[in-house]
Amino acid sequence: MTELNTVNAGANPDLANSLVEQALADKPQPVEPARIIPPSNNVVVLPSGYIGSDGKLRTEVEVRELTGADEEALSKADTLVKTWSTVLSRGVVKIGELSVTEEILDDLLIGDRDTLVLGVYKATFGNFANIDAYCIGCKEYKTVAFNLNEDLKVKTLADPVNQRVFEVFGKTNRYLVTLPTGSAQKEISVDPNKTDAEIKTILLEKCIIEINDSPVISRNQIKGMSIPDRQLVVEEIAKRAPGPQFEDTEIDCPNCGGKVVVPVNLGTIFRY
Ligand SMILES: [Zn+2]
Repeated sequence: MTELNTVNAGANPDLANSLVEQALADKPQPVEPARIIPPSNNVVVLPSGYIGSDGKLRTEVEVRELTGADEEALSKADTLVKTWSTVLSRGVVKIGELSVTEEILDDLLIGDRDTLVLGVYKATFGNFANIDAYCIGCKEYKTVAFNLNEDLKVKTLADPVNQRVFEVFGKTNRYLVTLPTGSAQKEISVDPNKTDAEIKTILLEKCIIEINDSPVISRNQIKGMSIPDRQLVVEEIAKRAPGPQFEDTEIDCPNCGGKVVVPVNLGTIFRY
C-alpha cells in the first residue's frame, strides 16, 4: 500500500527500516556456480517485449544500479525525454541475450521504455518512490512513499507480437497502425516548442504504416487526414498502448482524513 508520511521519507526511520527489510528479503539466494542468474531486482520483464530482426520476442531485460558517473551524465540532460534516454542507455545492460544498443532502445515501445526506466529506478533506489503531494485539509505538502510494485497498474499485450499492429477505420479511410516506439518519442522531443497538432502529426507519421493499402511515405499524407480521423487514430493508439499506467492516485491523509492527490508519473517518481 501507499504510505503517507508527514516528514520527508528520507528522514523517516520506519520507512528506512522497511526498505532495509525489503533489501534483505531481496537478497539473491546462493545458486549453483554454473547458473548465472542476476539478482532478481536487476531483472525486468517487459509488458510487450523486443522483436529483433530474427523475429524472436525478448521480454527479459537486465538492468543495473546507477552510479555517480551516471548521475553526472543525467545532470546534462535538459529535457525529460533526454533524461529517460540517458537512464536507458546507461542502466539497461541486456535485452534477452543481446547487449543493448541505441537502435534496440529506439525500437522498444514507449511502455516498455517506461517499464525499464522504472526498473533502473528500482535497481538504484528500491521499490518505493517519495512523491510530494498537497493535502488540501492540512494546507501543506506531504511526502508519500509510493510502492512501485504494488500501487502501479501495468497494462500488457495478451499477444505481444500481433497486437502491436492493428487497423483503425475512419470515416472513409482504413489505417494500418503500429504502436509508438522510442524513436517517435525522441523525434517529438527534438523541438520543445511544437504545438499539440504538430506533435500529433509526428506521432501519426511514425505510427501509421498504411492508408487504404498505400504506404505512408510522406508527412503530407498525415496532414491530409481529416481532423476526426487524426483524433480517432491517436485515441486508438492511447487505448492500446501497454506499459505502466501513470495516473493521479487519491489517498486518505492520516492527519486530517482529507484526500491527498498523489501525482504519479516518471517525472515525480524519478527524482534524485
Ligand atoms: Zn491532511
